[in-house]
Amino acid sequence: MRRIGVAVAAALAIVTAACAPEPVGQPSGATATTTTTAVTTTTPPTAVPGPGGTTVPVFQHPYRYGTAQAKAPAGPDGLLPVVRRIETDKPYVFITIDDGAVRHPAALELMRSSNVRPSLFLNTKHVQDDPAYFKALQDRADVQVHAHTANHPNLQGKSYDFQRQEICGNADYLEQQMGARPKLFRPPFGNYDATTRRAATDCGFSALVMWTAAVNDGVVQFQAGGKLNRGDVVLMHFRHTFVEDFLAFLERCKQDGLTPVPLEDHLSVTQP
Ligand SMILES: [Zn+2]
Repeated sequence: MRRIGVAVAAALAIVTAACAPEPVGQPSGATATTTTTAVTTTTPPTAVPGPGGTTVPVFQHPYRYGTAQAKAPAGPDGLLPVVRRIETDKPYVFITIDDGAVRHPAALELMRSSNVRPSLFLNTKHVQDDPAYFKALQDRADVQVHAHTANHPNLQGKSYDFQRQEICGNADYLEQQMGARPKLFRPPFGNYDATTRRAATDCGFSALVMWTAAVNDGVVQFQAGGKLNRGDVVLMHFRHTFVEDFLAFLERCKQDGLTPVPLEDHLSVTQP
């Protein structure tokens, strides 16, 4: 019986191969069962043309984005947790883009065409130059906007009142402009102290987010080792080199077998 079954399967495979060319990128084992749909199914592209003759790597969503995958860890002392990387057993990595100083015209299309949703940590002083630019990223690239202080000062050692005004004031402004209260906070330069955590907790944030890798001048820089690892939080900025930086990150992800997924889904702060 088993022998006959194998023979039938082999014959079927030959017929299938003769009738329909195997779709590029499909696992070969799937051919026999997808005979009727193979002709009409389009394999999602793994890359598309980008700005200035570049090639943009494309990532398929490994789950439905906007659904919570994990909770933020609890802070050890009743204050908000400091998150440097995401604990995950999946091949996921996270991209964050800070400040907002340079509003690169290609950013929206790059986010959309790559299928990647970065988390934006923005300063009031940059957003107020052109709130519509950042609102368009939020609404059309489905990204979320988070807080990074009003004026980008070094918070370390500053008074509670000063820090609270920088942090809460930025959150209030972003809520007013974007229509959603930011849930995550990143201190400028990554500098913070106990007062920062107290103020950020009082301002209603769920986590203080740091990073484990960065992109500068089109080069991905690692804190340790020569590659990105699952759970890494990567930092880049809105700069003139946006295209080079973003593409360097995407290509590194492909090289290291990682998929960039929304940070919010892994800190349970996804907004509906
Ligand atoms: Zn910054």
